[in-house]
Amino acid sequence: MITHSAPAKDIAKQVAENISQIRGRISEAAKRAGRNPDDITLMAVTKTQPPEKIIAAYEAGIRAFGENRVQEFAAKREQLSDLPDATFALIGQLQSNKVNKAVELFSAIHSVDSLRLAERINAAVERSGREPLPVAIEINTGDPVKAGLAPDSPELEQLLSSAPRLLHLRIEGLMTIPPFTEDSEGARPYFRRLRELRDSIATRPLSGTSMDLLSMGMSHDFEVAIEEGSTCVRIGTAIFGERQK
Ligand SMILES: *Cc1c(COP(=O)(O)O)cnc(C)c1O
Repeated sequence: MITHSAPAKDIAKQVAENISQIRGRISEAAKRAGRNPDDITLMAVTKTQPPEKIIAAYEAGIRAFGENRVQEFAAKREQLSDLPDATFALIGQLQSNKVNKAVELFSAIHSVDSLRLAERINAAVERSGREPLPVAIEINTGDPVKAGLAPDSPELEQLLSSAPRLLHLRIEGLMTIPPFTEDSEGARPYFRRLRELRDSIATRPLSGTSMDLLSMGMSHDFEVAIEEGSTCVRIGTAIFGERQK
């Protein structure tokens, strides 16, 4: 169909349409699994996307956003200052020299992949004087060369047992990125692994942790993730189209 409206309007319309479709698919997947769709947050992943598209997603009702890089978000942040209630989580790997900046910019950090990083973030939040920062521990459920702590690693255990003294962090749960498989079903065992890990951690009395957040599922596999218990799906390309770089 050919329309004659301004291109920016077309982009906003497309983004809104994509979000509406994804919401429908989230509902269907939740129903299949006997779950309440309201228990699943749709996080829009905005890496490489310009502020206009992020604003379009906000106008279509998105309040949870995920960004991968501190520098990139710092450059966009000013143009996004006018979005009340929007939260921006860091979901990409965080280098220790960018911890202060990340704490200043983000509402949450969902890519805590070492005890050392958790301690650094804790100290930065303390210095900043802000409220305890919501964080998620990134778990490597598959490929050992990728980021994240292995489910059975001593370091994960250390991090969890340190939680009560990390007073400036609020550990909300776990995040994972499964190895890529062509077929979304291929991701299921990794999602299941994360849920089982969460369930086993949740039975322990750890102050400062809630374990309600299970961040898993991306554009090509979010329905499988929801069937396996995801409470936050992180969707980039299915909302915004191919990334700009
Ligand atoms: C890019 C990214 C996503 C979104 O991926 P899509 O396939 O575009 O939906 C989700 N999570 C993380 C950690 C990412 O880096």
